[in-house]
Amino acid sequence: MTCSCHESKTTESDLTIPENDVLITSNDPHHPANLICELCKTFYNNGWVTGTGGGISIREENNIYIAPSGVQKERMVPTNMFVMDLKTHEYLRKPEVYKPSACTPLFLSAYEMRDAGACIHTHSQAAVMCTLLFDKVFEISSIEQIKALPKITEAGNLWYSDKLVIPIIENTEKEEDLTGALQKAIIEYPSATAVLVRRHGIYVWGPTVWKAKVYNEAIDYLLELAVKMKQMGIPTVKNNS
Ligand SMILES: [Zn+2]
Repeated sequence: MTCSCHESKTTESDLTIPENDVLITSNDPHHPANLICELCKTFYNNGWVTGTGGGISIREENNIYIAPSGVQKERMVPTNMFVMDLKTHEYLRKPEVYKPSACTPLFLSAYEMRDAGACIHTHSQAAVMCTLLFDKVFEISSIEQIKALPKITEAGNLWYSDKLVIPIIENTEKEEDLTGALQKAIIEYPSATAVLVRRHGIYVWGPTVWKAKVYNEAIDYLLELAVKMKQMGIPTVKNNS
């Protein structure tokens, strides 16, 4: 009788996984491929990524996971994911039937210029409205929710009375053509963890996916509040003098 105790416990289902699908196959709900699907559903339900708009990317060490273009966000599954090598920009996994996200060069900018762990892009109506109500930058101060956001250029988060400033760049016909303006804004506003795009939406990033999620939620709350404040004629930046 042949002893088989040294053999690894390869199951039949393991054998059916194509080689590169190993990158997106996991029972761990926190695996980037699974997490992107969960977050896409959550963001869809918030009205931030309807009609296939918007996108999410998560970095795990040197691999970046990116939701594809043109897939309904609430129906996303792990096999839809693109996986790219951050150093070489080569795809490690590329589903044949989908196009890579046009957001990819913008996500790469957040990874490479800010060492981000995740980047979120939404078409939130509050974000779009604020780009119509503000000129070069969105500004708000003296709102408790501001404390959820980081200072970036120094340790810790903003205080209640600090002013949150988010640059606004002009939209382009093609999403990828935003890259130059986004990179310029990242350089010019070193304390920003987000960039608004006029009549389009917002890009938000953070050192981890959970921080990016918190920042995105906190910023969207402030954007929505700012729209209401403007409607009521209340200045978004409080004069503390
Ligand atoms: Zn977009």
